[in-house]
Amino acid sequence: MATTQTGVLIAGMGPVGAALAALLARQGVSVIACERETEIYRLPRAAHFDAEIMRLFQQLGIAEAMLPHSRPIGGYDFINAEGEMLMQFATSPETSQGWASGYLFHQPALEELLRESLDVMGVETLTGWSLTGFSDDGDGVTATLSGGGETRTIRAQFLVGCDGGNSFVRKTLGIGFDDYGFDEPWLVVDTLMPDESHLKPHGVQLCDPARPITIMPMSPGRRRWEFMLLPHETPEEMMAPGKVEALMAPFMGKGEAEIVRRAVYRFHGLVAKEWRKGRVLLAGDSAHQMPPFAGQGMCSGLRDAANLAWKLAMVMDGKAGMGLLDTYQKEREPHVRGFIELAIAMGKVVCMQDTEAARARDAGMVAGHKAGGAAPLPPPPPMIGGALHASPRAGELSPQYERFDDQRGNGAWLLHKGRAVEADDLEIVDVSGLAQWEIWLGEADAALIRPDRYVFGTGKAGDLMSAWREGLRG
Ligand SMILES: Cc1cc2nc3c(=O)[nH]c(=O)nc-3n(C[C@H](O)[C@H](O)[C@H](O)COP(=O)(O)OP(=O)(O)OC[C@H]3O[C@@H](n4cnc5c(N)ncnc54)[C@H](O)[C@@H]3O)c2cc1C
Repeated sequence: MATTQTGVLIAGMGPVGAALAALLARQGVSVIACERETEIYRLPRAAHFDAEIMRLFQQLGIAEAMLPHSRPIGGYDFINAEGEMLMQFATSPETSQGWASGYLFHQPALEELLRESLDVMGVETLTGWSLTGFSDDGDGVTATLSGGGETRTIRAQFLVGCDGGNSFVRKTLGIGFDDYGFDEPWLVVDTLMPDESHLKPHGVQLCDPARPITIMPMSPGRRRWEFMLLPHETPEEMMAPGKVEALMAPFMGKGEAEIVRRAVYRFHGLVAKEWRKGRVLLAGDSAHQMPPFAGQGMCSGLRDAANLAWKLAMVMDGKAGMGLLDTYQKEREPHVRGFIELAIAMGKVVCMQDTEAARARDAGMVAGHKAGGAAPLPPPPPMIGGALHASPRAGELSPQYERFDDQRGNGAWLLHKGRAVEADDLEIVDVSGLAQWEIWLGEADAALIRPDRYVFGTGKAGDLMSAWREGLRG
């Protein structure tokens, strides 16, 4: 059979592979995305994404369509067995990203919208086709796909393994994980609740040593329940008929919730030791996994996609050297590790089953909360090094005022105030007179914003443009 040529082959069309395909296509890159399964994964998974991710959906043109499938998170409370608050994360209906601080949602609805957006953009998607082999000869990657008893060959400039936690791509490359040693089994249950008007739109961690429980609203009419397995319990026991109903009985009357899906997972903290070998890269769960307590696993994978898409596009377009791809793991790994460590710290508060230790935890944390009140989620570590120009705000996520992004293109922007600037490789935006941007720029004349909306640097326009071009050359 003839070999099909493409720019990027993406293995796996979960949220990360689909988002990466969409971002690459928007930047003019030819993409083929293959997916082993013929249907979208239906078992319970992500329930939360944050403002940065909603801004990414806006860039992909699906933010408005996501609104009916999501709702702003009202708060995130960690409560002990006596109902006292141990810690509380404040949430906000509006942030500098132009969206609420967090949204609760139903992952299959997002995956459907992402796939529809691929169809609209004409991305070639091969569902029911598994990546079964590949080799990288330095000039490109030759990949074998199998599906329905047939095989086909694809020649791509790059292969990205977005093929989830059991990644075939990662294993074939012989890349191991750095394991944080967190390993906790939980039963996860999704329910439909036609009437939930009496319940708050808050996520709740019930830190009861007798049975740690998570209760999380999802999209309107849906609610997530998670029950930690006790040391003597097995996954088979937890999945047995009547068990979930018995676990949920203390929280609701009969018939108030319809159980639609259930699964037992082990929550881990894992980071792949290398995220790129030559022309093959990893993104999403294939590169890292984390417990769900901070609601950031998928969000982190989507940030990988945003970080990688513009770099691949520039390298393939000849505007940047291969060295730019070395900044991918350098920038993303510390960020991901920040969230893994936060999620594990939260998990250690929730998963405590020793009653004495829980009593000591409660004594300290109840007093701490009374004194300090609710606080926002701690920010992830700032991006340091990588494709950045050392200057104030470099590595920060740029703000978005009044749906600013909608009026801009997909490339890099040079925002400036005052003197006229010209460049044909950047979108030039004069922000003089726009009070919020002028305040944000402060002393700087200009800011260069990368296509993933992180700040490359601030300062004088000419210096930024030279540093950008030099940085891309690598
Ligand atoms: C209980 C639970 C709760 C969670 N809550 C949150 C949350 O609130 N917020 C959050 O951000 N994240 C959360 N997560 C994490 C989130 O669900 C994952 O991080 C996310 O789904 C990973 O996306 P992905 O695209 O990297 O991988 P996946 O979604 O696993 O997709 C990988 C795809 O690759 C395909 N594939 C595999 N091998 C091949 C092959 N050889 N060829 C072709 N295709 C292949 C698979 O079929 C699959 O469709 C949660 C996870 C769990 C389990």
